[in-house]
Amino acid sequence: MSDNQEYLENLGHLEKRLKSYEGRPSAVAGVAKDPVNLPMIRHWCEAMGDTNPAYNGPDSVAPPTMLQTWTMGGLSGHTGRTQAYDELLALLDEAGCTAVVATDCEQEYVRPLRPGDEITFDAVIESVSERKTTKLGTGYFVTTRMDVRVGTDLAGTHRFRILKYAPARPREKPQAARPGPRLRPRPVVNRDNAGFWEGVRQHRLLIQRCTGCGTLRHPWLPGCATCGGPDWDTVEASGAGTVYSYVVLHHPPFPAFDPPHAVALIELAEGVRMISNVVGVPYDKVRIGLPVRLEFRTYDDELVLPVFRAGQEEVA
Ligand code: ZN
Repeated sequence: MSDNQEYLENLGHLEKRLKSYEGRPSAVAGVAKDPVNLPMIRHWCEAMGDTNPAYNGPDSVAPPTMLQTWTMGGLSGHTGRTQAYDELLALLDEAGCTAVVATDCEQEYVRPLRPGDEITFDAVIESVSERKTTKLGTGYFVTTRMDVRVGTDLAGTHRFRILKYAPARPREKPQAARPGPRLRPRPVVNRDNAGFWEGVRQHRLLIQRCTGCGTLRHPWLPGCATCGGPDWDTVEASGAGTVYSYVVLHHPPFPAFDPPHAVALIELAEGVRMISNVVGVPYDKVRIGLPVRLEFRTYDDELVLPVFRAGQEEVA
């Protein structure tokens, strides 16, 4: 048997073992250490800067995104934890996937949680991906799903994904020494903000508007922070704005950028703010209150970004 055949056989064997963990519980009949309570809600809201009145007062609900918080075990761990998850991680360690990074989480909310609710939970290893190669290295995505309940009622689900991987070897040459163009980083387009980037592609700057209470918001989000409403439409920005704040980046150097350059928080005439670049003036002429006007700049075949131009007469 050649080395290559042996390698593939071992890999197949490993992947079979990894897959055997799918569907196995990682926590059974877990019980939250505390019921849903106002002090934890208050600390959360302070840390997040969330002043939504729904989260305090006698009829308060817990912020939905606190879902996982109620199930956290702290330093001493939580009840109900099984061996399966630890075994799976140990198996990946043995296979050389010794590094780990949390990649994302997804939550679904079924019913609101209120102070006094006693939380229980179960968790399952939902999936182990095929072998994937990322910039970090080669490894496996492991997704767990936690079902959070009050009594027998499902309150929500929390999916958590990690990448367990063998770190890639450092590149032989640092990136700065490589020839070729330095492309600007791509925006992260997801289902919540896809409409915004579609607008940008068409040279339209679209602001989300809650159809419940009319509040404008940016960046795009699935719900309204003012009234909690999930429904929205858009309005097109007029393009007028001012510099609300800015920083000048000197270091570290980054391919595609030519430091120093100014990154500005632009307040649009409609009232929402967005991070962008100010063009048309040197970085050291950018000032708070500087009037600017929207334009769309094409950076390469795939990338159009909204930027804001300041008039030379404004900074003279
Ligand atoms: Zn609203």
